[in-house]
Amino acid sequence: MAKVRALVLEKQHELGLREIDLPLEVGPGMVRIAIHTVGVCGSDVHYYTHGRIGPFVVDAPMVLGHEAAGTVVEVGAGVSHLKVGDRVCMEPGIPDPNSRASRLGMYNVDPAVRFWATPPIHGVLTAEVIHPANYTFKLPDHVSFAEGAMVEPFAVGMQAASKARIAPGDTAVVLGAGPIGTMVALAALAGGCARVIVADLAQPKLDIAAQYQGIIPVNIRETNLIEKVGELTEGWGADVVFECSGSPRAWETIMDLPRPGGCIVVVGLPVEPTKVDIAAASTKELRIENVFRYAHQYDRAIALIASGKVDLKPLISETFAFEDSKAAFDRAVEARPDDVKLQIRVAS
Ligand SMILES: [Zn+2]
Repeated sequence: MAKVRALVLEKQHELGLREIDLPLEVGPGMVRIAIHTVGVCGSDVHYYTHGRIGPFVVDAPMVLGHEAAGTVVEVGAGVSHLKVGDRVCMEPGIPDPNSRASRLGMYNVDPAVRFWATPPIHGVLTAEVIHPANYTFKLPDHVSFAEGAMVEPFAVGMQAASKARIAPGDTAVVLGAGPIGTMVALAALAGGCARVIVADLAQPKLDIAAQYQGIIPVNIRETNLIEKVGELTEGWGADVVFECSGSPRAWETIMDLPRPGGCIVVVGLPVEPTKVDIAAASTKELRIENVFRYAHQYDRAIALIASGKVDLKPLISETFAFEDSKAAFDRAVEARPDDVKLQIRVAS
């Protein structure tokens, strides 16, 4: 254990920088990484404001942050694909490699997974962390640390697009233009969609999404989304609908959006159990897919960013110094509609 400075959530509403004991010994198969940039995620903010997410309760001080990029500063025994000085980003969930879920390739749904900044596991808003080399990914020289820290939320979009099994030329609908909805829309375009209709109530969020070619913004305060999708698809419906709003209301009419034989991918999660019109899904023989974080998406996400096909830089709204970490979180709590991603630069 070493005493290091970190952004610690003491309990609900109580957040600040202080010294804390964290393990920094590099075991076999592990690397030590100097953290450069960390994105502020909705889940980090939710632990700050609510002290819990579902069954995960903050009942001991916890370091926040899980969307990170940095530089390898030490390499453990047996690590061959990374060396000191490599710029990297890290997958925040570490499964039990021998679990049944991991052996099936679905390591993201391993019940034993340990995920940064999910109680009781510490996050990475601190100078250095230890991480398995197998969940640490090298960044090409022209991909910045800021972009590297965007790989985590983008990987959720990649998982959603993969689950959709997009065919070239598909039309998709994304419900919700928050950070994840926007990531899903970009992954859907990169995955072959000809166009992605993004629906939200907040015009500033739609304006940000609409900067990207292929995105059709629809403000559902003014426009009936079902009519609009019908108009754009000659009454057939969308090939894929991504539910990213988490609003129970989305489920009231969602079955009217996909085409017969289409697909709904559930990304946003309503807090309460929600009514779903199964009979309507049956009439169209819809396929309904679920997404829990991601598996096997980091290398693909980095490849898309490196190729220039996906540019996440316009989604970084502001960068805070490490010393201003609490201010970054308080700004995130404000939930300004024109903020997409706030980041904290840990390295000076
Ligand atoms: Zn996140």
